[in-house]
Amino acid sequence: MPAIKLSGNETVLQKAAVNELSGSLRGQLLTRGDAGYDDARTLWNAMHDRHPALIARCADVQDVSTAVNFAREHELLLAVKGGGHSFPGKSVCEGGMMIDLAGMKTVRVDPDRRRAYAGGGALLYDLDKASLDHGLVTTAGVVSHTGVGGLTLGGGFGRLNRKYGLTIDNVVSARIVTADGKIRRISADEDPDLFWGIRGGGGNFGVVTEFEFALHPTTRRMLGGNIVWPVSKARDVLAFFAEYATGVSDDMYVAPFMVAPPGTEGIIGIDVLFCGDPAAGEKELAPLRSFGQPAEDGVTMVDYLEYQTQFDGAEAHGRRNYIKNGMVREFTPGLIDGMIEGFTLDPNTSLFFHTAGGVVAEVGDTDTAFPHRKAVTMIGIGSTWTAPAEDKQRIAELRRRWALVEPHTGGFYANLREETASRTEKNFGPNYDRLVALKNAYDPMNLFRLNANVTPTV
Ligand SMILES: Cc1cc2nc3c(=O)[nH]c(=O)nc-3n(C[C@H](O)[C@H](O)[C@H](O)COP(=O)(O)OP(=O)(O)OC[C@H]3O[C@@H](n4cnc5c(N)ncnc54)[C@H](O)[C@@H]3O)c2cc1C
Repeated sequence: MPAIKLSGNETVLQKAAVNELSGSLRGQLLTRGDAGYDDARTLWNAMHDRHPALIARCADVQDVSTAVNFAREHELLLAVKGGGHSFPGKSVCEGGMMIDLAGMKTVRVDPDRRRAYAGGGALLYDLDKASLDHGLVTTAGVVSHTGVGGLTLGGGFGRLNRKYGLTIDNVVSARIVTADGKIRRISADEDPDLFWGIRGGGGNFGVVTEFEFALHPTTRRMLGGNIVWPVSKARDVLAFFAEYATGVSDDMYVAPFMVAPPGTEGIIGIDVLFCGDPAAGEKELAPLRSFGQPAEDGVTMVDYLEYQTQFDGAEAHGRRNYIKNGMVREFTPGLIDGMIEGFTLDPNTSLFFHTAGGVVAEVGDTDTAFPHRKAVTMIGIGSTWTAPAEDKQRIAELRRRWALVEPHTGGFYANLREETASRTEKNFGPNYDRLVALKNAYDPMNLFRLNANVTPTV
């Protein structure tokens, strides 16, 4: 069977070796034409239509170890798929091998210890649901069909991050299969360096088959909703927001967005979630609600689990997507100008934020591999469409708009942007050298390279 190696060269896999691999997995080994093959190789972003030679649909950690050993021994190009939401399509490869974790998505909760144990292929909904069933919660992102694996390894912004930190700040331990095929349990006490590296360093160091998360007691009913103004008021709203957001408590999450739903002249909205006492939330929210006569104020008591799914439809699978983002330390007038200039009435393009601060900023830039602790927010511009013929023009247009915003940002969120090796190095900032040392120790052949890649130097 023809396959592609890490070097990019072609190789031929012997039938006997492939059969032996297939026979040794508890899960399935899929090749072109097998039932389930197309489903397994398909990512959320339809831009990445690739055909791995082999897909190992792993059923357990031993399967993952077997698959990693096979890929390493045959020097195969290797992709690891968690939830499949990589914008740049890092979780599928052409001609190499894919390790698909969709069969490892169970989330188990220990309510007494306040811990969730999430499989490497779990989705955010699985984590939120299992935790909330016990009156517990941790930080998860804002679209519930996103994968826990990729989101966590790169950082993990979510509506509760000001209260509980990024998703990585809640990881207590992980089980990982490293490039040598070894299964390791890592934590602050076991392989602490590696544990540091997986919290922000992406999939560079192996396949995480289970995350142990700290959970926090919560109610499901919270104060949440969107406050919306016509886009003509964007400058005033954003200037007010810049001031307002610096004074809110860690219970409050407020994240602006700008979009032009069909039939409107464009809106500036603020996504609100308050996870503390609703009466205190009402009080904190009052100045925002009364600013500039909003066109719509949808803030009310919501069910948090449901609220976490509100963008699921708008962010549906199978469309073509392109995105840029940057980290913002200060909400300056220049940034506001850039946003307003960058805004478009195209209903398929939106500006959005992941607001940070609070507990996110209490962790030091070098305490985990995630280097942007002091940013108050991440800003992104994303565009979505269906016809491949539009790719070139859509991407060029988005880049043009992003160029108006980018000068007001510093660094980027690697989970939502692909970059050159030198920009990736710069983006990891003070953490890069330590990441390289880890890569040299745990993955000197760069088996795990389809990610925000740290290039080994040995
Ligand atoms: C619709 C949408 C909404 C999003 N919302 C948010 C948000 O609210 N907050 C936020 O922080 N980010 C958000 N993101 C970005 C998200 O964090 C990244 O896209 C992330 O990579 C998705 O993880 P995944 O497991 O679904 O992706 P995949 O495509 O499966 O993987 C992405 C990368 O992670 C690696 N990987 C995945 N799982 C594992 C694992 N178990 N072990 C080792 N490596 C692994 C892959 O090899 C690949 O390099 C969103 C993305 C999308 C598309």
